[in-house]
Amino acid sequence: MTTPVTRWPVAVLGATGAVGQAFIRLLEGHPWFDLVEVAASERSAGKSYASATRWLEGTMPPAVALFQVKACTPEQVKAPIVFSALDSSVAGEVEAAFAASGRLVLSNAKNYRMESDVPLVIPEVNGDHLALLTQQRANRGWPGGIVTNANCAVTVAAMALAPLHQAFRVTKVFMTTMQAVSGAGYPGVPSLDILGNVIPYIGDEEPKIETELVKLLGTYDGTTIVSAPIVTSAHANRVAVEHGHTVCLSVAFERAPTPEQALETLRAWKGFGAVQGLPSAPVPALIVRDEPDRPQARRDVNAGGGMAVTIGRVRADNLFDLRLVAMAHNVVRGAAGGSILNAELLVATGQLDGLVAS
Ligand code: NAP
Repeated sequence: MTTPVTRWPVAVLGATGAVGQAFIRLLEGHPWFDLVEVAASERSAGKSYASATRWLEGTMPPAVALFQVKACTPEQVKAPIVFSALDSSVAGEVEAAFAASGRLVLSNAKNYRMESDVPLVIPEVNGDHLALLTQQRANRGWPGGIVTNANCAVTVAAMALAPLHQAFRVTKVFMTTMQAVSGAGYPGVPSLDILGNVIPYIGDEEPKIETELVKLLGTYDGTTIVSAPIVTSAHANRVAVEHGHTVCLSVAFERAPTPEQALETLRAWKGFGAVQGLPSAPVPALIVRDEPDRPQARRDVNAGGGMAVTIGRVRADNLFDLRLVAMAHNVVRGAAGGSILNAELLVATGQLDGLVAS
């Protein structure tokens, strides 16, 4: 593992939103990354970060409060590593402009996730897919690049399924999600729509869950990602929970494990080797609970600093082979924390050397 001698200067695009604020919180005192710039829309540009932002949790870092918010252009924002928490309506053009100007963009937006030359990465699950960056630079002529992290609900499912797929080959997954309101950003879902309610529709969410899962669990063959041959079916629901997406899964396998074998596999899993020891990597990545009423968002959402996925209710399934429940923090593991872990993996594996204009 390469440990940087000096901290890399980093910027956050979309810094005023729900995910942008999580980046600000998680980057405070980060051993490898030094937050030097924040950027958002023209509505916020030119203001101090404190006056442009409706801060949602804890205390705004005093130094960042004084930053002037910049416009999201590569001319204004100079940092070589750029974390993007941009709305998808603008992320496409903005992120490409930064990659073309030599920056490494770590994106939370949906725009590039399914492009064949763009890594869609959860470090423990498929950290080796970062190698696609070489293809991307060749294809697009970008001196920089774009690395995406997955949709927040599929992140939970993929972390729970990865060990089981590696050991027993998943063939079918039926998933029902219960997704927190913070997943819709700020101000997000109106309170009168969600309080005391379950909304059985989240725009565009089910196709994202179904398609991203097979790319995440796919194999990098040296040039491209071969999707995992898994049939996926998702129901996505918005529920009156602040943070923490819960996913109930029923799973079929080529070689069906007993619940005991599945539990043993989940408990032993460490994930992609190079992730071990990274500053944001939770130990363990998966927390397997035996109580019949866990995981619960209220009790488990901050496990592993919000980076661990909590799993429970592992048992036989009447339709398929196995069923289980998984839950994790959508804004931390499913967004900002996942991006930061991707960046740490790029640094630790030397994949930023020569890639980023500084
Ligand atoms: P959000 O709270 O609505 O924040 C959106 C951010 O984008 C704000 O900083 C906003 O700046 C900025 N923005 C909007 N229009 C812009 C423009 N024209 N030019 C430049 N900046 C612009 O949304 P969020 O929940 O943080 O989500 C951010 C991204 O992460 C989205 O792509 C979302 O799909 C993805 N994501 C979210 C989650 C989650 O759990 N929330 C999880 C995974 C992925 P202003 O304040 O200046 O308007």
